[in-house]
Amino acid sequence: MSEKIKGGPNEGPSFLQGGFIVKKIAVLTSGGDSPGMNAAVRSVVRTGLHYGLEVAGILKGYEGLIDGEIITMDSRSVAGIIHRGGTILHTSRSERFLTPEGRSMAMDQLASAGVDAIVIIGGDGSFRGAEKLHESGLPVIGIPGTIDNDIAGTDETIGYDTALNTSLDAVARLRDTASSHDRLFIVELMGRDSGFIALEVGLACGAEAVVIPETGLDLADLADDIHRARKMDKDHFFIILAEGVMSAQELKEKLRDTAGYDARITVPGYVIRGGSPTCYDTVLATRMGRKAVETLLEGRKGLMIGCVNHEMVTVPLSDSWERKKTINPELIETLDMMNS
Ligand code: ADP
Repeated sequence: MSEKIKGGPNEGPSFLQGGFIVKKIAVLTSGGDSPGMNAAVRSVVRTGLHYGLEVAGILKGYEGLIDGEIITMDSRSVAGIIHRGGTILHTSRSERFLTPEGRSMAMDQLASAGVDAIVIIGGDGSFRGAEKLHESGLPVIGIPGTIDNDIAGTDETIGYDTALNTSLDAVARLRDTASSHDRLFIVELMGRDSGFIALEVGLACGAEAVVIPETGLDLADLADDIHRARKMDKDHFFIILAEGVMSAQELKEKLRDTAGYDARITVPGYVIRGGSPTCYDTVLATRMGRKAVETLLEGRKGLMIGCVNHEMVTVPLSDSWERKKTINPELIETLDMMNS
């Protein structure tokens, strides 16, 4: 921890090194929810209180901010939430916040609530909004919370590990029935335009094939692989498909029309976005929440908290949408090797 931070446990206002004072911070969750967001909220609140700050919670993301839905958070208000999925602050997608008028209302609400700085937990869309607040002069820190893990500047986002494990559990259950019935299965997993979830789940469940946006679909190759597996008397064939490529239904039709294979499809969908966060996500969220508040107290702003090689880091908020996070090619090679 930085020795630069003034204020001790609950010792009153802390001073920013950037030449401005923070006495009151606010926290909000925005965009798609992810397991671990509550642990991050709890950590922001309790770290703020530890340093003697006042802490506010903003309900329903940017929508609630525009409407002034701002509540006081104390230590008890975040009791019993560390293990709960979703977000107690609720979240939203806000059309109004996309407009200068909406953002100006949001800034007015923050000013009248006496908020000096804000911590925003969400994905890259939320961070684009956060950048706008930063440009308006409000100190902002972002915490990456999304199951998709598609944010550059951090090895993992909050909720990714939970989504991996929930997906793995779903696929493991399917496997039991698949091998009993000699079946070809397509499991479509969320991940927006990226294949992080599908690739890691594919590796972990021993899938015969993984189809992700980063490598695309080679239908002829896939059909060959299925054919080869059948000849080797494999009793099942699992395809893990990232939603960013196409839907499971579309892939099923392509396989039927081009190669005559009849696949069963399963789409866990939003199921993988729910549930209690894993230990990993809970610890990650707690560390990031603390780091967010301490970064503000060091007088630094316009940054996102990341976790790189297990260490807490800060990167510009704009990294989250300007830089593309890439798939580790070693994972793809390993998957291929396991199925060669
Ligand atoms: P996520 O944060 O999960 O990526 P979204 O992309 O839906 O979710 O973004 C959440 C909210 O952030 C949007 O509903 C909108 O209010 C705000 N937002 C997104 N992009 C911008 C932008 N370019 N400028 C201002 N606000 C934005």
